[in-house]
Amino acid sequence: MTAASKKALPGRGLAKGLAVTLRTMTRRSVTAQYPDAPPDLPPRTRGVIALLEENCTVCMLCARECPDWCIYIDSHKETVPAATPGGRDRSRNVLDRFAIDFALCMYCGICIEVCPFDALFWSPVFEYAEENILDLTHERDRLRQWMWTVPAPPALDPGAEEPKEIGAARKAAEKLAAAQAAEAAQAAEAAAQPDEPGQPTQPGQPDPSDQSGRREGDA
Ligand code: SF4
Ligand code: SF4
Repeated sequence: MTAASKKALPGRGLAKGLAVTLRTMTRRSVTAQYPDAPPDLPPRTRGVIALLEENCTVCMLCARECPDWCIYIDSHKETVPAATPGGRDRSRNVLDRFAIDFALCMYCGICIEVCPFDALFWSPVFEYAEENILDLTHERDRLRQWMWTVPAPPALDPGAEEPKEIGAARKAAEKLAAAQAAEAAQAAEAAAQPDEPGQPTQPGQPDPSDQSGRREGDA
């Protein structure tokens, strides 16, 4: 039978549709017992956006790229004194306000994608409905609280290149451990050395090592 004659067979589509209906009718129905049983969500579910404030440099990229204009950021500039003598003072942005209005957010994830400093993350938590729509604007403290619900990133593939941040952190930790070990070895060496035998001084006699009482010209 050719493909054309298969298509032309009368009632074939109807039989196929009835077979699907029959299969579905005989399948056991599954009802999610939410909220008694929490749903089994994928780990990267887009529930709510979390803010890691320490990483935010107030570059405003997320607020500019948000298609709904629902990220509100306020900041001011502060002068940081030069770290070295003769150096120049620097200025840095200090975050005053960071808020996201989840009544407007469409969960596109653009803000998280564009953040160059890894300050925004998806949390799978979705139970934050409010009776008052104004309460859906989460200020920085609340966005910060969501950070503790962000799942750990998946493990790297075997043989994958080590991320630069982890490499830099590991090198810094190794350097610090080496410096601490050298310091401890120096302290142990100093403690192990016996004290230099000094000239015993008689009561009433001046200490020969004490130069404070000598005048200029004394032999
Ligand atoms: S997820 Fe999309 S809509 Fe929501 S705050 Fe981020 S950029 Fe804006
Ligand atoms: S893009 Fe990232 S670093 Fe820049 S303001 Fe937004 S959260 Fe902060």
